[in-house]
Amino acid sequence: MSHLFYLSTAARPVLDRAEGIYMWDTSGRRFIDGSSGAMVSNIGHSNPAVLAAMRAQMDKSTFGYRLHFETEPGEQLAAKVAALSPEGMEKVFFVSGGSEAVESAMKLARQYAVVTGQAGRWKVISRFPSYHGSTLGALSVTGYDPLTDPFRPMMVEMPKIPAPRAYLDGLDMDNAATGAHYAAMLEDRILAEGPETVLAFIHEPVGGASTGALVPPTGYMQAVRAICDKYGVLLIHDEVMSGGGRVGTFLGGDLWGVAPDIIAISKGFGAGYAPLGAMIAQDRIVQAVQDAGGFLHGHTYAGNPLACTAGLAVLTEIERQGMMGNARKVGAVLKQRLKNLMQRYGFIGDVRGEGLLLAFEFVASRETMAPLPREMKAFDDLVERAYAEGLIIYSRRTRGGYEGDHFLVCPPMITTEAQVDEIMEKLTRALDGFADAHTG
Ligand code: PLP
Repeated sequence: MSHLFYLSTAARPVLDRAEGIYMWDTSGRRFIDGSSGAMVSNIGHSNPAVLAAMRAQMDKSTFGYRLHFETEPGEQLAAKVAALSPEGMEKVFFVSGGSEAVESAMKLARQYAVVTGQAGRWKVISRFPSYHGSTLGALSVTGYDPLTDPFRPMMVEMPKIPAPRAYLDGLDMDNAATGAHYAAMLEDRILAEGPETVLAFIHEPVGGASTGALVPPTGYMQAVRAICDKYGVLLIHDEVMSGGGRVGTFLGGDLWGVAPDIIAISKGFGAGYAPLGAMIAQDRIVQAVQDAGGFLHGHTYAGNPLACTAGLAVLTEIERQGMMGNARKVGAVLKQRLKNLMQRYGFIGDVRGEGLLLAFEFVASRETMAPLPREMKAFDDLVERAYAEGLIIYSRRTRGGYEGDHFLVCPPMITTEAQVDEIMEKLTRALDGFADAHTG
């Protein structure tokens, strides 16, 4: 009997070891990590250079409390992150995960408003559907009812606007009018709430699990930036999943050349080698808060030297092996192969994503883009069929004005084209099984 408990109740084998894009259970069965865990293991498993750097750091120190010491790995990692971030974002605040990064971003924004005489601003507008984390603050901006409903009395309800799901609304992704249409929803909401009460807008440049790699339509990112500027609303990019290189650039926002005021990153930043995340902020924001006495926020484990060593070694390996370039190249191949599946399976309604943050979505009909019935539990069914083939993929049932099943196919950034073949063989067998079972 296991003494552990989690959200999922599905029985899973015990992990023994992992290397590159493969994982083995204790019975010797091999799996392809086709989702990098939860879009975490970006550089693959057991990278020798990262492990060697961590071992060397372990022999020196594994913890130094931030009120007592700066650490060399912390300083070096912060410098590297600042160099990879948009201009004017030189300040980095370490945390141990994505929810902590989002909480930190919201609290820094709020403290900045308070110290700059804008204490009336506290609302953080977000999108529906969305996922920004499981702590109460991050949940308050999360647009995903099943996860938030039981906790509503304990949360501050934050305003939500629809995510720009042009593929569902039958709008042209490549038309700037589409981007303007969805961005106008932000402006309308700011005006409805009263701009003087709105602190920030948080969204994911390339969506993660809640939307299934949603890519914004042309012009959306720039229009959102302009609207935030117009009303003095801070723009927070949640790059917990899209940041770290998976989309082919260090940050998702880089794809559109849009710099936010605050960035939250995690997942691929520690890449599964250590619990690590960070908040990166515009210098003017950090300066104002520091001048007023310092940021009233922090976590005990934040910035510990072992985690920072791992993060530094991960970024060094990404650069040394040209992994962002590989994510673009192999990502394009994988995306095309996923698109080709649409000819074979009428129930695949959309394929989307950037780099190796890719997803496909099931529909009952491409004409109406109506979802498959909920009772079919497609999101579970296909994942289990893939798992039986030795392929791990990640699924979610979207909620929010529309319910649908989507599947993230996000192998590590070291995946080769030959390994794409392996992934596609297993995925096709799983999809054939799904088609046989549900469409006769
Ligand atoms: N933000 C986004 C976009 C995420 O995808 C996640 C996790 O899936 C989080 C925040 C929360 O991160 P964590 O689970 O590390 O707390």
